[in-house]
Amino acid sequence: MDSLLNATRPPVFCPGCSHERITHTLDQAFHKMGLAGADICMVSDIGCSGLFDTFFNTHALHGLHGRALTYAAGVKLARPELNVVVTMGDGGQGIGGAHLLAACRRNLDLTLLVLNNFNFGMTGGQYSATTPPEAEVGSGFLNRLERPLDIGGVARAAGAPYVVRCSAYRSDLPDVIARAVAFKGFAVVDIWGICPGRFSKRNRLTPKLIEEMLARLPAMEGEVVENRRPEYGELYRQTAAALNPVPEPAAIEPRFAPPGGAREEVIMLGSAGQRIITAGEILCLAALHAGLNATQKNDYDITVLRGPSISELILSPEPIDFSGIAQPSLVVALAPEGVARRRKAFEALSSGSVVIQAAGVEVAPGPARIHRVDFKAQGIKPPDWALASLGVLAKLGLVIRPEMLEAALGSRLRGASLAGALELVRRVAPGQWANA
Ligand code: SF4
Repeated sequence: MDSLLNATRPPVFCPGCSHERITHTLDQAFHKMGLAGADICMVSDIGCSGLFDTFFNTHALHGLHGRALTYAAGVKLARPELNVVVTMGDGGQGIGGAHLLAACRRNLDLTLLVLNNFNFGMTGGQYSATTPPEAEVGSGFLNRLERPLDIGGVARAAGAPYVVRCSAYRSDLPDVIARAVAFKGFAVVDIWGICPGRFSKRNRLTPKLIEEMLARLPAMEGEVVENRRPEYGELYRQTAAALNPVPEPAAIEPRFAPPGGAREEVIMLGSAGQRIITAGEILCLAALHAGLNATQKNDYDITVLRGPSISELILSPEPIDFSGIAQPSLVVALAPEGVARRRKAFEALSSGSVVIQAAGVEVAPGPARIHRVDFKAQGIKPPDWALASLGVLAKLGLVIRPEMLEAALGSRLRGASLAGALELVRRVAPGQWANA
């Protein structure tokens, strides 16, 4: 089998850079494994190691700094038959270290080659997560204040089942890489090399010194027996296959005519706990029962039981390309919090607009027709005001008809909830016009 190196984009690094050696070694490893370009996806990070995806005639993905493992996970889950090989530098490990931990814990079948040369080479030789404290780097003294990251040690501790720490100058590196790629699970190969362009301009580092440094550390040569376990992707597919299939959404056949033929833009303004979003959903379902298109856009704070809750709805016989509302035809004002949050919506109202105003909720005066409803006097509690307001709309023939609303409630609710909702929308008194 031929080399998988891209003849139109030969690897170009600074003279003596260990990345070049690793590029050719990786090609040899693919060759030993008998892999074709279509069998492999190279996922690269940012920096000099980020050039790797361009050097091979394989599938490739190149993304943001420190995030290569996240893309690789997506590729492998979508295309489990591919050999996914990730190249990152020590800089990327520092930036996206949490992704390394996640990959170790997860054990998806990826191969991570860390091209570890103890500095950010491409950007000028700044200190990285693995720079030794005694090294001279282009970013001042900061490396002297930190401990370097032990990539292999962290990977093992986080659950990686296959970890190698080795020199880029090791003679059997093609076999080392081939074994890592063939391993069924997450394999980390922390390859120590030399950046002559930056790091070794200020520091003495040779292949022999790398060997000596590695010899002083615990050996890491492959499988971590205590982390041995099933591969994540297979486990995922087995587990997902055992789940009940998600049913298709129930189709709604239009059975009713809408009260008018025009597009309606509706804003429901309430507070948390008033079930504004549910009422908005029911209004959309009612529109579907009349053959209309519908969109719902919600807005609420992170708080529960306080703060505004808003639902913006468009019901239209025409397709809806944009869910934003510029000029509402109907505003339902059910709580001061929602009204305060959408004060500007009242400025956009025209004489053709309608405001349904719950008693006790102030709204700014304007040209719109106001219809007041005293839910409290009817013994309806605030959590039911939004649903009750749909009953009001249906009784007034605004936007929906009673049969549309009841069909929508039947689509959304069951049992006692449905019975209670039907009783509410049937009994609510519609109130009166205030300024019509
Ligand atoms: S800057 Fe360093 S890592 Fe980058 S190509 Fe040059 S020697 Fe290699």
